[in-house]
Amino acid sequence: MVNLIIFGAPGSGKGTYASRLLSRLNLEVVATGDIFRGMIKEETPLGLKVKEYVENGLLVPDEITLEVLKQYLAKIPKGKGFLLDGYPRTIEQAKALDKIAKIDAVIHLIVSDWIIIERLSSRRICKNCGAIYNMLYLKPKRDMICDKCGGPLYQREDDVPEVIKRRIEVYEKQTQPLLEYYREKGVPFVEAKCEKLETPPETVVEEIIKGLEKLKLV
Ligand code: AMP
Repeated sequence: MVNLIIFGAPGSGKGTYASRLLSRLNLEVVATGDIFRGMIKEETPLGLKVKEYVENGLLVPDEITLEVLKQYLAKIPKGKGFLLDGYPRTIEQAKALDKIAKIDAVIHLIVSDWIIIERLSSRRICKNCGAIYNMLYLKPKRDMICDKCGGPLYQREDDVPEVIKRRIEVYEKQTQPLLEYYREKGVPFVEAKCEKLETPPETVVEEIIKGLEKLKLV
């Protein structure tokens, strides 16, 4: 059983790697952003409370986030580990996490800024079903039409180079202190680098698994 945290900039492929690691290792992915979006979609009482924060890109208050995290961690079957994606975002959250679970390793995705900019600015999303395409390497069969449901594709307003650069800066400012926090605590790191646009996700996932094996965690 292994408990992990994954850090990676927006567009680093974090979600893709997390879902692939989930099918290879005995763990569950707990992605706080996905959990909040699900609650908002279902209009649960908590969903209504967090809606304003999430839609404005603000951090949901710690007491709500921690409560949600505890609920989801408690649901994980005995003997299974977890991979946290999107938590912690602050040192306070990291300290709160220390009180409820032991973290075995931090996975740090290192992706060059230009790759992130290329990837995100060529991303298109289906308005209807949310399927994600990429005009560089995951093109729809028909121009700007979803293969799965025939819905129209669109580009997110924040998926343009200037805004992407700002999102990377915000991420780095937020994440640096957290990486330092875990380094100082002596939590081992698995670093996975992606320096080429065409690196397939499997290659990065293999690198992460090899790193975990070296640490004798899997
Ligand atoms: P993400 O999908 O990880 O980018 O998260 C989307 C949004 O969910 C963020 O902009 C925040 O509003 C909220 N959120 C996700 N994780 C956290 C967290 N650990 N603490 C506070 N807010 C969070």
